[in-house]
Amino acid sequence: MAQTVAQSTPTTPALPAKLPLKATAPWAAFFGILMLVLLYFVGAEQGATSVFSGTDVHEWVHDARHLLGFPCH
Ligand SMILES: [Zn+2]
Repeated sequence: MAQTVAQSTPTTPALPAKLPLKATAPWAAFFGILMLVLLYFVGAEQGATSVFSGTDVHEWVHDARHLLGFPCH
């Protein structure tokens, strides 16, 4: 089966689509905060600080903690 592949010519290079900053900034802030919360739970929860009692969160993210180089035990 023959397939045609669209190629750009050297005179008209394909430009990446421009992302509007006003539309992407709230999503970037949301995912940034989400990543900070995740980083807290992996790096500090039930180690240096503790929001939840017990060791469930610590055990759940224990390998990720060691993988990222956070002090653990
Ligand atoms: Zn450990």
